[in-house]
Amino acid sequence: MAQWIEISLTVDGEAAEAAAELLNRFGYQGVAVEHDGIPPDKLDEDQIPPAERLIVRAYLPNDANVEAAKAELEQGLRYLNMMYPMPEPVYKLVDEQDWAEAWKVHYHPVRIGKRLFIRPRWIDIEIPEGAVEISLDPGMAFGTGTHPTTQLCLEALEEYVQPGLKILDLGTGSAILAIAAAKLGASYVLGLDIDPVAVTVALDNVRESGVDDRIVIQEGSLENVVTSARRFDMIVVNILARIIIQMCDEHLGDTVRPGGTAIFSGIIAEQGDDVEAALRKTGLEPYRRRQQGDWLVIEARRVQPE
Ligand code: SAH
Repeated sequence: MAQWIEISLTVDGEAAEAAAELLNRFGYQGVAVEHDGIPPDKLDEDQIPPAERLIVRAYLPNDANVEAAKAELEQGLRYLNMMYPMPEPVYKLVDEQDWAEAWKVHYHPVRIGKRLFIRPRWIDIEIPEGAVEISLDPGMAFGTGTHPTTQLCLEALEEYVQPGLKILDLGTGSAILAIAAAKLGASYVLGLDIDPVAVTVALDNVRESGVDDRIVIQEGSLENVVTSARRFDMIVVNILARIIIQMCDEHLGDTVRPGGTAIFSGIIAEQGDDVEAALRKTGLEPYRRRQQGDWLVIEARRVQPE
């Protein structure tokens, strides 16, 4: 049976993005960044778990190239260690059938904002009265609800989504934000992702969500929408700062209707100014930041024509 090597690095918030970028060069089907959710017995406390200790994980096939890959990874870590303290990587051998399951062990229910409640699909737990439930199996896709970048987006969605809005979720991953938006009342959500694995996972989660009549998932990215005349009341983009800045050069702002709202996440605090400068160039005016640990969400509005 095929085997995989799980690589994990436990790092603080600031180092997590750098560690994730490094692992992304090696990991098969991407990288997961997790931190412990609130244990079920603490669910009443309306708190968000601290962002300090993040576990960055990736998987690579245990084949003839594995030793070379490990050596290259360790070299990369030594380099990163000059900027952030980097731990030794932890390697674990996993069987193919356990590979997709391995993630589930680290995944707990999480309560976010006032009403949102993210439940792993295989954990049977009573949902509090009045809560908006998002039940998910993230599989190999990013978006479990435990990562600060996702949580910040969920908080913003909870605050801003009004019934009837049309929303674009760019980099949908597990479709967690798309499902949240639909459950909060959006009449139409388009979720796009360049990763075909994420698309499969997103479609599965949407099918199980009970709001699948209002969500469309497609493989693709900005070019799917920017070339058409489609305009959204709100867009939410949880991808890295670097990619957001690049998208700003590709007319990201045009996807938002004048007066509409744009929510950007995946941004380390010190990248905030660069992202805001890029947003202004694409016609989006930043008006608010939210922060959790080192992670920022920037909220912006499409400038109304005079
Ligand atoms: N929206 C989810 C997932 C965020 S992870 C959440 O908030 O938790 C970012 C996702 O963006 C990944 O699934 C990745 O495959 C996708 N992605 C990365 N670059 C992209 C691009 N240029 N266009 C569209 N999707 C992209």
